[in-house]
Amino acid sequence: MTGSAPLLEVDKLVKEYRGGRRLADRLTGRPETVVRAVTGVSLSIARGEIVGLIGESGCGKSTLGRSILRLHEPTSGRVTFDGTDVTALAAPAMKAMRRRMQIIFQDPYASLNPRRTVGEIVGLPLRLHGLARSPAEVRDLVAAMIEKVGLKSAHLDRYPHQFSGGQRQRIGIARALVSHPEFIVCDEPVSALDVSIQAQIIQLLTDLKSEMGLTYLFISHDISVIGYLSDRVAVMYLGELVEFGPVEDVLARPRHPYTQSLMSAVPEVDRPGHRHRVRLEGDLPSPLAPPPGCRFHTRCPFATDICRREAPRTETVGPGHTAACHRLSENLSLLDEEQA
Ligand code: SF4
Repeated sequence: MTGSAPLLEVDKLVKEYRGGRRLADRLTGRPETVVRAVTGVSLSIARGEIVGLIGESGCGKSTLGRSILRLHEPTSGRVTFDGTDVTALAAPAMKAMRRRMQIIFQDPYASLNPRRTVGEIVGLPLRLHGLARSPAEVRDLVAAMIEKVGLKSAHLDRYPHQFSGGQRQRIGIARALVSHPEFIVCDEPVSALDVSIQAQIIQLLTDLKSEMGLTYLFISHDISVIGYLSDRVAVMYLGELVEFGPVEDVLARPRHPYTQSLMSAVPEVDRPGHRHRVRLEGDLPSPLAPPPGCRFHTRCPFATDICRREAPRTETVGPGHTAACHRLSENLSLLDEEQA
């Protein structure tokens, strides 16, 4: 944590997707399907900070990132950015705010229009926000940004399919940064890339953060990446934050059994004295019908009756470190268990 006031505050954010009711559903009295993708998430991010958001595929982390930017409209809750309630902004003001809040997508190929040149793709935010006085200025600004992300200005007239996966992600990064935003949702930006390219893109994002004074919400299912990059880490399970705190505390002393299971599944994470692996059994339950009580109880080896009945409250377990589990006081740890 950098110690400055939060740049971004998320307060009890909820995102539900309603399936609607077909005629047959109405006739049979079947209720409308509701997917509760994000359920009351609160977190803050200081200016210049990287908060890593980790969880399994389908846990709601991408939905949370997109709801913060209102790419998906939140169902309820509030997002405050630099003192402005983003969730209350009308469309024109939200459009202006998007210059300051951007996203880098996971799939650099799907997110780039194949019929546009690199110059057109990266120049679009400049034109949308009126940030250049002439086409020549757009081209100059785009060329400068393209070189900043490690490509060449000679690439401006080429199309996305003429680039490798890593180069396409550099184009996606250039498009996100060309309007000089302050906050970026990095939505699994290296997950679709080869391991050798991942390190280059992570280094690029780290360098650009320092150079441009950026703040990141960095979404990943890879705890090694999160551990390397983040100042603080938020752990998400089935739409809820189950643990949040300084990265060195959460990774060295994970308090929630789910965080512990994520840690134990990654042998290369440096945890001297803890080399045991605990496999997370079963699949993530459906957000259509989340389990009652603690949502993790169907997979938790420490679950008791109260876990099946009551949702645990979020409690402080250390400086700036919170977790939500009924059995925190017992200091349970999967990581200390001897495995055969
Ligand atoms: Fe496991 Fe119970 Fe804690 Fe949930 S509340 S993580 S089921 S011990």
